[in-house]
Amino acid sequence: MRILKQSDPGPENSSRQSAPSSRFHGSPLPDEFSWSSGDNEESLQLIAGRFGDRVDAEIIGHSVCGAPLTALSVGTGPRRLLVTAAHHANEWITAPALMVFIEDLLFAGDSGGSVGGVPARDILSRSRITFVPLVNPDGVDLVNGTLPSAGVAQASAIAENWPDIPFPSGWKANIRGVDLNLQYPALWETARENKSALGVTGPAPQNYVGPKPLSEPESRALFDLTLREDPDLVLAFHTQGETIYWRFFDRDIPGSRELGERLSHESGYSLEDTPYVSGFAGYKDWFIDAFRRPGYTVEFGRGSNPLPPGQFGRIRETCAKIIAAAALGI
Ligand SMILES: [Zn+2]
Repeated sequence: MRILKQSDPGPENSSRQSAPSSRFHGSPLPDEFSWSSGDNEESLQLIAGRFGDRVDAEIIGHSVCGAPLTALSVGTGPRRLLVTAAHHANEWITAPALMVFIEDLLFAGDSGGSVGGVPARDILSRSRITFVPLVNPDGVDLVNGTLPSAGVAQASAIAENWPDIPFPSGWKANIRGVDLNLQYPALWETARENKSALGVTGPAPQNYVGPKPLSEPESRALFDLTLREDPDLVLAFHTQGETIYWRFFDRDIPGSRELGERLSHESGYSLEDTPYVSGFAGYKDWFIDAFRRPGYTVEFGRGSNPLPPGQFGRIRETCAKIIAAAALGI
């Protein structure tokens, strides 16, 4: 599935006056859909083509299986955000939620409309937002059945050691069985101890920290991009729980709780401390620790992963409210 239709011409090569149609924009939400790295890349290309010089697309690396890791930036303002989705394979619904938000934001920017209750032009003029909608393309392709057979065999051999975890729907890791959100240099050794205590000491569908921090090309690419972009704030999108995690360890970041409370108010999600067992080596943990700026993990939706696509409509609305509030700050 893609968002914009392939036949949709951009304004520079179209004589039509009406707004272009798209899969989601102004359309009924689908009850059933899936998502793949191919869908993601195609949507990025179409958005980049449709909105021309208002977006900057950049390949920041490649996954273990060679899928491009693409970042897309919009806006011209001084406040810099970096927003990521789908670190975890079976939380793939966050990727199309982010892609649709990008599209909604750009369409609304053109038409004078709003997203998440905020005029899109305010967001685009006051902030610059870099999105990495699909951090774990191989894992998402595994869960959704579009990964080539060699990759499936690699993951399947790992999953055989974990018969209690459904395969592939319980898979969160990258294709080498490394949990990408346990890869960052923020008390990584503590994460390793915690996960070892749970019995995870090697490649697994979830909870393996890897042989060392940033051992995987996906986490390394996002780490490098974050250093380069030097954002004021990061958001990391996951599922599930309708919760926002805002802290790392004992770090006290000025304004972090206040903005977290604002995001909580806008979304209706609870603002909570991260449980100790999963409180280290995550992307937002590293950002808070290294930059001493606010970072948030947002857990969308309720139920068990992967969430049913029927929740997409609500997730989409909440995603817009959170990004809009984060883009404007307090
Ligand atoms: Zn997650």
